[in-house]
Order: sequence, then structure tokens, then C-alpha cells
Amino acid sequence: MADSTTALALTLSARQASDFELLANGGFAPLSGFMGSEDWRRVCEEMRLASGDIWPIPITLASDLEVSQGDVVELSAPNGKRLGRLRVEETFDRDTEQEAKQVYRTADSEHPGVAAIYAEGERCIAGPIESDALPDHDDAFMRRYLTPEESRKTFAERGWKRIVAFQTRNPIHRAHEYLTKAALEVSDGLFLHPLIGETKKGDIPAEVRMRCYEILMERYYHPKRVVLGVNPAKMHYAGPREAVLHAIIRRNYGCTHFIVGRDHAGVGDYYGTYDAQRIFDDIDLAELGIEPLFFEHTYWCHDCEGMASDKTCPHPQESHLFLSGTKVREMLANGETPPHEFTREEVAEILIDAYRKGID
Ligand SMILES: [Zn+2]
Repeated sequence: MADSTTALALTLSARQASDFELLANGGFAPLSGFMGSEDWRRVCEEMRLASGDIWPIPITLASDLEVSQGDVVELSAPNGKRLGRLRVEETFDRDTEQEAKQVYRTADSEHPGVAAIYAEGERCIAGPIESDALPDHDDAFMRRYLTPEESRKTFAERGWKRIVAFQTRNPIHRAHEYLTKAALEVSDGLFLHPLIGETKKGDIPAEVRMRCYEILMERYYHPKRVVLGVNPAKMHYAGPREAVLHAIIRRNYGCTHFIVGRDHAGVGDYYGTYDAQRIFDDIDLAELGIEPLFFEHTYWCHDCEGMASDKTCPHPQESHLFLSGTKVREMLANGETPPHEFTREEVAEILIDAYRKGID
């Protein structure tokens, strides 16, 4: 066992630093540290912490660092910034294949979330953390940074009681704008909360997405009814389980409702279109503390002359403006502006510019 003069130190990966940040700022409440074996097992098997609280995805710190119970490990961010420390309660080996199957519903290493946990390895260090600082972010994000405490305060100052949160890792097209405004029609305020942690290659970088939100907020949203923040979480691409995690994070940020679209947090064809909505059928929403709002696929309908969905539009598919994600990416990469009924021109301009400069 290390004595107090031994400096145990660990530099976190970007993914681990993202978890640290949400543990430290309260976004992962009631968690106060990286999970031990009992939490890990129950989360995988039952979607609950050892305490019984609902929790969908293990938050573990994988590391081969030699430590014993009671040791204190100093933690720093990938750029070397000192963040705080962890008091070791336990080290354990997790079964990453079991985690993949139970949490991600697949053991396929092609799944980006599964690939990430396989790459991290099995051995984990668990214990509560103490935070001195949060990881650094670009100025574009820090301008919009709100901790859960700050967003709650902002909502209270505005007198909002019914607050709907919108999560996305994608650029905002007319369909997303429509969902958020439809939800806002029956709420007091909208919390746009794009994710800025690590995503997979090919996803639009967070700073580009932020510029899209900012231009839309300036021109198409009512400033008194919308708050734009940033969610430091990384993507797991765990579909249904991640929809629940996204809901819990927004509950902690003070929201009462959370938009769940089709294939929320999914990737490839690992999850059914509405799996991320169905998972809430088996959850007690009062216990969860936030209510999901489910949305269908929406589109522009030439006959309705507006945004619509299969719930509201009686017209045939030929009347609907449909562009696949692949097609939209192709157009933007070629410098072509998608129809304005699909993407606002201001947003298309930002995205075309980003593609010109290169997206991995
Ligand atoms: Zn129609």
C-alpha cells in the first residue's frame, strides 16, 4: 500500500475525463465516483445501481495502475491539467463481453461503443472522486457552459416550470427544429443541450454543430424561451440504454421533459427504430424524475406545406421531401445546398464550409 508521500497519478483519456467532468459537476448524480463491481454488475444486469437507483450504463475507470484500497490517485486531463483525485475503494475486473451484450445488446467489436470498452480493457479502479477543476474546453463551448446547478438557476430565474431538453450529436436540420418547437409549444422553455464529448469518426465536430445552433437561435427561436448549453458527455452509441442516461443527465440539469426521437443514440442497425422509446415502458417515470417525449420521424410535406409526420400528414410518400443522411452528407461535401425545407440555408452554409475544411 502506498504511503502519503507516494504520488499515484493517472492521466485520464478524453472519454474518462468526460465521465470525471459529469461526476464532478453533478451531471451524473447520484453517482459520486467511478463504479465498483457491485454497481457494475447490477447496472449491466438490471439497469440499477447497488443502491437501487435506476442507472443504465456503467461509469467505470479502466486502468492497469497498481493500487490498493485506501490509496489516493491524482487524476489529470489528457492535456495535463490537474482535475482532482480518486480514493480507491476497490479494484476489479469487469467482463467487457458481458457488458457489451447486456448494455449494448451486441458483442460485435464493430460497434463503436463496444469497441471503446474492449479497447479500455477489463481492470477497473473504483472509488469516490474529489474535484479541484473541470477539464478545459474550447472557448466556443465555455461561452455556453452551464453546470447543472447553473442551468437550474437559469430556469428558475426565467420562471420556467416545464422545461424540455433536446440532446443531439448531429447538426440541426428542419426536422430537429420542428421537434424542439413542437415540444416547446407545450412547455415553458427549451434547453438545447448538444453533446460535446467524444463522438465517432465522420460525425460533425461539436464546434461546427454549436455554430449551427447559435445561428438558428439568433434567427429562428425566441430568445426568451431557449437556453443553449453544452453536455460534456461522450457518445456510447448504446441506443436505448443511452437514451435513459441522456434523460437522467437532463433531469440533473433541471429539465422535466426530454425529447426522444427515432433511433436515439443508435448507430448502424444495432437497434430498432423505436427501441430507445420502448425502453421507457418498463421504467417508473416518477422514479426516473423526468418524462420522455416521443417523436416520430418528421419531414417537409409539399401538400401540407409544412413539417409533418405520419401522425399528422395524410399524404402519400411522394409528397414528402426525403433525403437520406448519406445523401445529405454527399451534397454538403460537394458544396451543394440541400433544399431549404430540409436544412436552413444558414446552417447549410456552415456545414458546407466545415466539409470544405475537412471532416474525418
Ligand atoms: Zn402532408
